[in-house]
Amino acid sequence: MDKDTDVIIIGGGPAGLHMVFQAGLYGMRSLLIDALPQPGGQLAALYPDKLIYDVPGFPSVLAQELIERLLAQAEAFEPRYRWGERVDTLNFADGRWTVGTAQGQWRAPVVVLAAGIGAFAPKRPRAEGLEHYERLDQVRYQADAAADWHGRRILIQGGTAQAVAAAVAAAQTAAGVDLVHRKDEFELLPHHAEPFRQLRQAGRIRCRIPYTVNALGGTDAQLKWAKLKGYGTADVTVETDLFLPLLGFGAALGPIKDWALPLQAGAVAVDPASMESPQRQLYVIGDMAAYAGKAKLIVIGFSEAAIAARHAFNYIYPGTRLPTAYSSNIGPLDLGRTRPRQAEDSTKI
Ligand SMILES: Cc1cc2nc3c(=O)[nH]c(=O)nc-3n(C[C@H](O)[C@H](O)[C@H](O)COP(=O)(O)OP(=O)(O)OC[C@H]3O[C@@H](n4cnc5c(N)ncnc54)[C@H](O)[C@@H]3O)c2cc1C
Repeated sequence: MDKDTDVIIIGGGPAGLHMVFQAGLYGMRSLLIDALPQPGGQLAALYPDKLIYDVPGFPSVLAQELIERLLAQAEAFEPRYRWGERVDTLNFADGRWTVGTAQGQWRAPVVVLAAGIGAFAPKRPRAEGLEHYERLDQVRYQADAAADWHGRRILIQGGTAQAVAAAVAAAQTAAGVDLVHRKDEFELLPHHAEPFRQLRQAGRIRCRIPYTVNALGGTDAQLKWAKLKGYGTADVTVETDLFLPLLGFGAALGPIKDWALPLQAGAVAVDPASMESPQRQLYVIGDMAAYAGKAKLIVIGFSEAAIAARHAFNYIYPGTRLPTAYSSNIGPLDLGRTRPRQAEDSTKI
């Protein structure tokens, strides 16, 4: 049986991550589920290397750093995260929501939909043989931080910050790293710029420009080579035993369209006084929330998380007065200090 969950948050962008904090401030436990393999929503998927200038208190902040700070701020409230899982079903019965992914089902009295512009999924290249080696786990869309690159020949495709980060990490121990991209332009997180330049110069990251991967081959059980198609240059074949296409992510509303929500232009109409949707106990915040005067900005999503948490409190602790809203009055934050009483059970089913 799982630990109690009061609130299930669908979406781990800035609005969803701040919702974890706001829920915790009012004594509610959160489970957050996101289709992306990592936290951060649009900030992680579309612009981790960009500076943001309109987050209060930060003259400027790197998108990736803002995500890390949001995670650190929520940590005291013991959140549970499930990355890389898309929520496919959402059903209400007996006063509780049931949320379903390919991995299981979870229940809670309150759901907060912080799904932005839809579920992110990695972009797949068009390469012959791709599906076969995907099934063998020799094509991966995520560079696992703890991956063992030792002695392997790694082929990476893309100009994204994820592609550069993977190349820099793999070059420490791999037998070879080829980085394939159409042009000599890469998204770079500041701390990767210098190592990338040096590793490239030393030939430990071999940039294949301007190329794209158009076929994979080897034996039935093992990827051994990739054919690179040149743009105005001759095609070449490179040896590899692990292919990482890190081409970025695309978003799609997907299953949300089937959840009987009043969707208009990809957003759900809510009451801005509570952020509750026409369905009780279902809140919508961030880019997916629609009401008169709505602006799709990070700071607005933060504010909506605070509003939703204050309202959702009534469902989790009925008959209990909303506690003080000032974190500065509570002192060091943790769930033990902010929880008014034990909430009812929520069970993984
Ligand atoms: C290039 C660019 C620059 C920007 N610059 C700024 C800026 O300077 N300042 C500013 O305020 N705003 C900026 N924005 C806008 C800002 O990024 C968005 O307003 C913000 O990301 C919205 O946050 P969110 O949490 O609502 O949604 P998102 O960040 O979109 O996160 C939603 C998450 O929900 C997940 N999800 C969706 N459906 C499902 C499902 N069915 N199951 C599981 N997970 C699901 C997605 O995978 C995603 O990770 C910029 C946007 C872009 C594209």
